[in-house]
Amino acid sequence: MRGPTIIKAEDDKTKQLNKHNLMAFSGEAGDTVQFAEYIQANIQLYTMRNDTELGPNAVASFVRGELARSLRSRNPYTVNLLLGGIDPITQKPHLYWIDYLASVASVPYAAHGYAQYYCLSTLDKHHHPDISLDEGLKLLEMCTDELKRRLPIDYKGVLVKVITKDGVREQDFDNNRISIMSKRQAELSLEEEELSMSSSASKKARVEDGDLPEDEARSEALPLRRANGQDILAAAEQEGEELEEAAQDQGAESSDANIDDDDDKPAIAAPKRQSAPLEGYSDLYLDTINREILDFDFEKQCSVSLSNINVYACLVCGKYFQGRGPKSHAYFHALEVGHHVFINMGTKKVYVLPEGYEVQNKSLDDIKYVVDPHYNKEEVAKLDKEVHDAFDLAGNRYRPGFVGMNNIKANDYLNVVVQLLAHVFPIRNYFLLHDFSQPGTPQLAVRFSTLVRKLWNHKAFRSHVSPHELLQEIALRSSKRFTLTQQSDPVEFLSWFLNNLHLSLGGAKKPSKTPTSVVQAAFQGHLRIESQAITAHSDTQNARLVFTESGTINSQTTPYLILTLDLPPTPLFQSSNRESIIPQVPLTTLLNKYNGITASEKLAQRVRHRLLHPLPPYLLFHIKRFSKNRFVSERNPTIVTFPSPRSLDMSPYVEPNPDIWPHSEPILYDLVANIILDPTVAAPGAHEEAAADKGVNAAGGSSGGSGSSSSSGAGAGSEKVSWLVQLHDKAMAAENSRVQKEHAGEQRGPEWLEIQDLFVKKAESETLFTKEGYLMVWERRKVPGKANRKGKAAAK
Ligand SMILES: [Zn+2]
Repeated sequence: MRGPTIIKAEDDKTKQLNKHNLMAFSGEAGDTVQFAEYIQANIQLYTMRNDTELGPNAVASFVRGELARSLRSRNPYTVNLLLGGIDPITQKPHLYWIDYLASVASVPYAAHGYAQYYCLSTLDKHHHPDISLDEGLKLLEMCTDELKRRLPIDYKGVLVKVITKDGVREQDFDNNRISIMSKRQAELSLEEEELSMSSSASKKARVEDGDLPEDEARSEALPLRRANGQDILAAAEQEGEELEEAAQDQGAESSDANIDDDDDKPAIAAPKRQSAPLEGYSDLYLDTINREILDFDFEKQCSVSLSNINVYACLVCGKYFQGRGPKSHAYFHALEVGHHVFINMGTKKVYVLPEGYEVQNKSLDDIKYVVDPHYNKEEVAKLDKEVHDAFDLAGNRYRPGFVGMNNIKANDYLNVVVQLLAHVFPIRNYFLLHDFSQPGTPQLAVRFSTLVRKLWNHKAFRSHVSPHELLQEIALRSSKRFTLTQQSDPVEFLSWFLNNLHLSLGGAKKPSKTPTSVVQAAFQGHLRIESQAITAHSDTQNARLVFTESGTINSQTTPYLILTLDLPPTPLFQSSNRESIIPQVPLTTLLNKYNGITASEKLAQRVRHRLLHPLPPYLLFHIKRFSKNRFVSERNPTIVTFPSPRSLDMSPYVEPNPDIWPHSEPILYDLVANIILDPTVAAPGAHEEAAADKGVNAAGGSSGGSGSSSSSGAGAGSEKVSWLVQLHDKAMAAENSRVQKEHAGEQRGPEWLEIQDLFVKKAESETLFTKEGYLMVWERRKVPGKANRKGKAAAK
């Protein structure tokens, strides 16, 4: 609007931004020209650089963004704008109404300034989505007619520009003609009055409708100011914190009041309310989302305030920020860095900042899923039966459940334990399916659940995960006993973790006969310990020491989660070629510790162990390699052999109890996971080199991880070890046996996978025991009809 002062009668208040986009502006004289030229230059620069033309919605978003930024500066531009254009791809016309408060709306027609008081009612009445160019020009005449009659200042006529798919052209328009279409007779044949450029611009976009498919935004025919007002109202309600929006709201309301001034206005359909900006508007920002860098693995903690309350993740750079209201860290991040799309880590709602409205768009669902993958029972039931290929963003195939895990510094001891537990099916299924969302759930359970669900995510952006969030909680809960910077013993960690997980799931503190958590249900069994005191005295004749066993045998039953297996001592002397004669021992020999016959001496006691029925569904074997505590001692490199990862018979180690299990019937277990240690032998003083080598290896594999492990790891002194885990892919095994039935000898994929930090590789089941196993999980094989075996036996 030129205002009451006419500076120049034929002033052109439009700027052509590119071939198909035209901007009309009104407002403070200096601001308008300066801002319009700035926008024009930037849009043209974009076209030159990218050799492609921005569509009207992209231009509108850009203009709005610039205006929003200036609004928050010390010298905001006071500019009202109309943007008209044809989308170069869809060939559809668009018109955007933008005001000096940087609110934007896509509209079928629009006007700014004083002219809108006179024109909008006419436009409301006569505009329709299929309007042709000629009809549009007639409508424009009716509008200028109104202005000539009613605007109390000298009217200098309008300049009409038309945007078509061929570009922008000026349209001849007779400014002196008085339209007779108007119902009202022209009593005052005034001279032309000034029409704000905006209303002419609005016309331009509209006239394309004739030869173009109906535009959605247009067919809704919603009066812009209302929609806009409602939009802001809704946003303000949701937020309750955006002062600027309230201001905008008021501005919109006041112009709203003038809508129905014209008396011959027909009642129009109730305007559709919108709670989010029109489509297309938000699209530009959604394009800035950078999925490649998103994983949400790190602890949800504001990168500025370090608070974990009300945290949003920036979807452009992946960082976390607190809050989204004005003066919040996310808000400032949006202003300072220009990243506009944020997701609330709790509610998973996506917002555009600094404006603060919520974006609801299907295209965000994948991100919401990655934040919090979830499963239903059918999906979980299929995990171990069917192989479905999954692909990450880079298009690489991966097996859900068998993905690498970041070794942040020296947390491979934790990674292998998490991988192992994520393949103990009752544990996994519980954490995949259980809802941990209620407040007050201990973080240990929540974060472990999140990690397990990410491990099995079939829609992951990246085919590896980071245990950072869980690690932070573990470091806190264990009072820094287990951290990501210090290597630890996986078994020590596992027993700490199982106990704490058990408690955080509400398990009973006191030992109980029946399991009180999923942890106990999976692993807990009972064993009998019989002990006999041994006393030594000297023989009267030979003066030799003689041992006698006390006649009384103490017998007690204790629960266990992990069974410790002792290795036979290694030979005292070592051959010069030490590598070639690594001692071996069969697993069954180690298990004889529990046969109730083999006894061991311990603190002047002779002790015998025997497992009791019923055996747990999963057995954890800890092969005791470190002879003293932690890592300050000898490591026993003996290899534990077993003929097959399948069909380990545990029945010889269980005290017979015919009520529960028929005597001499085998109790078969199959190997599920095997944590092994990978000793990297290094000469004293060569630690750094070894560590460096490892780091290089790891870095070569992935951008996201560091694979180096700390030199203070197990066996520190002359050696360091790193941990890896071998996992059985049950679904692949099932698939393979199906395939083999049809085509003998063929395999669909490897049944055993070896995971070391980020690296996942195939492992041959025949060579599983060739490395130094440390912790094994064996799964009890389900015997068909086993559950009602007792009943059957009785029936016979
Ligand atoms: Zn960012």
